[in-house]
Amino acid sequence: MRKPIIAGNWKMFKTFDEAVEFTESVREKVPSEEKVDAVICAPAIFLPTLVDIAMETDLAIGAQNMHYENEGAFTGEISPSQLASINVDYVILGHSERREYFNETDEAVNKKVRAALANGIVPIICCGETLEEREAQKTEEKVSSQITAALEGFTPEEVNHMVIAYEPIWAIGTGKTATADDANAVCGKIREVVEGLYGKETAESIRIQYGGSVKPENIEELLLKEHIDGALVGGASLDQESYLALLNKAQ
Ligand code: PGA
Repeated sequence: MRKPIIAGNWKMFKTFDEAVEFTESVREKVPSEEKVDAVICAPAIFLPTLVDIAMETDLAIGAQNMHYENEGAFTGEISPSQLASINVDYVILGHSERREYFNETDEAVNKKVRAALANGIVPIICCGETLEEREAQKTEEKVSSQITAALEGFTPEEVNHMVIAYEPIWAIGTGKTATADDANAVCGKIREVVEGLYGKETAESIRIQYGGSVKPENIEELLLKEHIDGALVGGASLDQESYLALLNKAQ
């Protein structure tokens, strides 16, 4: 049985005070980590404070991006070893917004995955197709190539520490969700790709989230599906009640 993982992706939302208030208020209310992994991926400048607030609770804190080098002359960037030095547990990598607006490539995602693992941070690796690609029946081809590139050159043991998020771009922030059957079919395809690269055992153990307009009203149906092990949630993770509802429905 794969343990569900629900990760909030706050993107570039919330002030410092709002982030602190949210985290202080939910930290004791999240379900036990024996049942579900609860993660909040917050803006980088809030991370040290939120990690402190969530310390010794069942809530984990993640980043939304990082560089792949541990240090260097990269003005404005944040490194994996810097994230590790403040005990950040997760990092979202290759989100479609980063690929689209910040030119993040498959090659960079692969380097970032390697760097995350080297620093003990769990990478949440995103993939997903555009509406045009879906309409042209290219969904499987797109996610297969993104996942093959991101997972290149690891050992099965390393792949066991990764999380994959399937996020159809047309469903992100639009209120349109893929049907649970469609989302499950693509997540199943991703599992097949992992099996082809790293074998059945690894494919069976890696957790695959669905993302794209997930909310308390649709999470149960998604999580009932064989290949969907959790959700990466934007909008619905910004509100305490709905974030907690998502977690409670996932356990
Ligand atoms: P959404 O965002 O839940 O607001 O659609 C999901 C994401 O971008 O991770």
